[in-house]
Amino acid sequence: MTERIDPGGMIGILGGGQLGRLLALAAAKLGYGTHVYCPEADCPASFVATRTTCASYDDNQALDSFAASVNVATFEFENVPTETVERISKLAPVRPSWKALEIAQDRAKEKAFFTDIGAATAPWRPVHSLDDLMDALKAVDTPAILKTARLGYDGKGQILIEKLEDAESAWVQLTSGQPPSSTTTPFAVLEGFVKFTSEISVIAARGLDGQTQCFEPVENVHKNHVLHTTTAPANISSATAKTAIGIAERAAEALNLVGIVAVEMFVTSYGGVLVNEMAPRPHNSGHWTLDACQTDQFTQLIRAICGLPLAEPLRHSNAVMTNLLGEDINDIDGFYTDPACHVYVYGKSEARPGRKMGHVTRLSALSSI
Ligand code: AMP
Repeated sequence: MTERIDPGGMIGILGGGQLGRLLALAAAKLGYGTHVYCPEADCPASFVATRTTCASYDDNQALDSFAASVNVATFEFENVPTETVERISKLAPVRPSWKALEIAQDRAKEKAFFTDIGAATAPWRPVHSLDDLMDALKAVDTPAILKTARLGYDGKGQILIEKLEDAESAWVQLTSGQPPSSTTTPFAVLEGFVKFTSEISVIAARGLDGQTQCFEPVENVHKNHVLHTTTAPANISSATAKTAIGIAERAAEALNLVGIVAVEMFVTSYGGVLVNEMAPRPHNSGHWTLDACQTDQFTQLIRAICGLPLAEPLRHSNAVMTNLLGEDINDIDGFYTDPACHVYVYGKSEARPGRKMGHVTRLSALSSI
């Protein structure tokens, strides 16, 4: 099998949301076809991909014929079962590998991973039971956040515990009153509440040849736990930016990554950087790169997994990316007439409250951190 995949090749994408859609467009620009695999019909990526398979992630026959049709596969959705990715890996290279996914899917493994590479996190403890939670609260102190170890996103599966007496009701709520099935892997983690001054993220790309390139740190503001705006550049010192970039680079190296990884971090009042989590896939906080940089996160991912040289991720403008959630998508006429605005609509038919329907990036003159 040759490592490099030339234009004309077929890229498999597991997951069919807006990240898959923007990835398929980037692939097409470089001359590649895309085959999207997604359990939901009429997913946003299916409207721009070359082919779509609509099947569940445990449909082995569909997975095998998908794998046989592609030269390389990647994922745009973090909760693809690792067994699915492992099965595809037997027939086609999957980049990044399922190992990166396995760590990112489990908050306990993720935190241990960052500790191992010398990056600080909030104080935390694994939690298997209510007794564990009481011990963890004594170690971590209140306020603290109890998070399910797996399958949480956008603040789902998280409960703030303000005082010790709230622990039992938080545990009942998080477990829906059922004792966790596994006694070996932790059901949850307890994290100290970080009084951050800002939230930032860095996207690192690593090529087949081990070359690493990072986009600059950007600042993220969340509303109701969902990303609201990303501002580039982040309003942080150059020392903090260097620390944040160093962490993302080390994560990419340690994962032996071929692809991209977004690392989300908290900045504390003394300029320290604490890692919150990572995603080894395109990330909402990287959408600004489509319009404000010489290359973008999606193109960089295609280059990495196809064995092409990475591009210089230089920023040529300042940018503010705003997510368009739910009904926001019906009020975008002002953006069309603003020459500084770049508008993206994801092609989802139903504007449910809080659903990511599109985004807009407004550019302004370049300034540095
Ligand atoms: P997560 O799903 O872990 O990315 O959490 C979603 C958002 O909740 C983060 O972007 C933060 O705004 C907030 N958050 C998560 N963990 C903490 C923490 N340990 N301390 C303070 N805020 C947090």
